[in-house]
Parts: sequence; C-alpha cells; structure tokens
Amino acid sequence: MDYYSSQISNLIEELSRLPGIGAKTAQRLAFHIISMPEEQVERLSSSMISAKKNIHYCKCCCTLTDGEICPICASAKRNHKMIMVVENTRDLAAYEKIGKYEGVYHVLHGAIAPMLGIGPADIKLKELLVRLEGDVDEVIIATNSSLEGEATAMLISKLVKPTGIRVTRIANGVPVGGDLEYIDEVTLLRALDGRIEL
Ligand code: ZN
Repeated sequence: MDYYSSQISNLIEELSRLPGIGAKTAQRLAFHIISMPEEQVERLSSSMISAKKNIHYCKCCCTLTDGEICPICASAKRNHKMIMVVENTRDLAAYEKIGKYEGVYHVLHGAIAPMLGIGPADIKLKELLVRLEGDVDEVIIATNSSLEGEATAMLISKLVKPTGIRVTRIANGVPVGGDLEYIDEVTLLRALDGRIEL
C-alpha cells in the first residue's frame, strides 16, 4: 500500500482488523471516514472510546454495564434471592424482553468446554459461588442446551446442591443446541415456568 500516505495506510490497516472487514471494505471505509465532516468523525471515535472505557462487568452479576452495579441488581423491585444463571448478556436480554422474570441474573460469559481448554476458571463461576454465600433461595440454570451448556449446568448443580439452595434447570422447551437469544418469547417463558428440580 505504498501508494497511500502512511496515515491512510494505518487507518486501512486498523479497520481491516475488525471482524468481517476485508481489505476492500477497509479501504472504502477509510476513504469514507476521511470525507466525513470532522465533528462526525469525532463523535464516532469518542463513542468508541467511551464505550470501551465505561462498559465493564457489574460487580454483582457480571453482566456488561456502565455503572458499578447494573440496573437489575440495583432494583429494589427484583427478587434478589432468585438467581438465573445465563451464558452471556444477550441471553439475559432475551429473558428481560419477556418481562415476566422477577429475579436477578448471573452472567457466566461462556460455558465450560474441556475440549477447547475452557475450564471453570475461565467463566464467572467463582463469582456465582461467592453470591451463594448470601441469602439465596433458588438458582435457575438457564445455560444453552448445547454440549457445553449442559456440562456447565451439571457442574453448577453439583456445586450448588451441598449448600442446600434449590437448584432448577429451565425445561426442555428450549431446542437442543439452540441459542437462547434466537428462541421466541413463548418458548422461553414455557421453559422458565416448567423448570425442573435438579
Ligand atoms: Zn448486575
């Protein structure tokens, strides 16, 4: 890319590191950015920087949030004794969209996958166990019904049972291998209502 000035080449190179952006798209985007009004470029770059700086894990449930504690954990209207364990923030959003669940969540940020070398220490499991030392009545395991999701559910149930806290698993209404985010609200609600004791 010697025919471009080094600043243009740098911009193209940085853009091409993003997922789904090939060399051609990176070039097109770079020239588009250069042609944009300066204020617009500033808004774009500052929104990226502030999102990166301010979004972090909720100190309580580990979901992605911009406050110290997320709005769900901070709400007095939620039942803090009922914790639903999900794999990621998108799964949490899927349940929130139904608007029928009154408990709180715990976001693992993944599932264990021994074949890929992802073990219990690589997800937010320790943080869940710390929460269980408080006043908790029920842990609802809502990990996906994939192999990894099931293995994670089994591990969590094994760890929670000795504490005497009720452990349940969302029902089989959720298709095997299905990602929670893509499942319709009726199926999700049925899965929650029909949860089974582990
Ligand atoms: Zn939270």
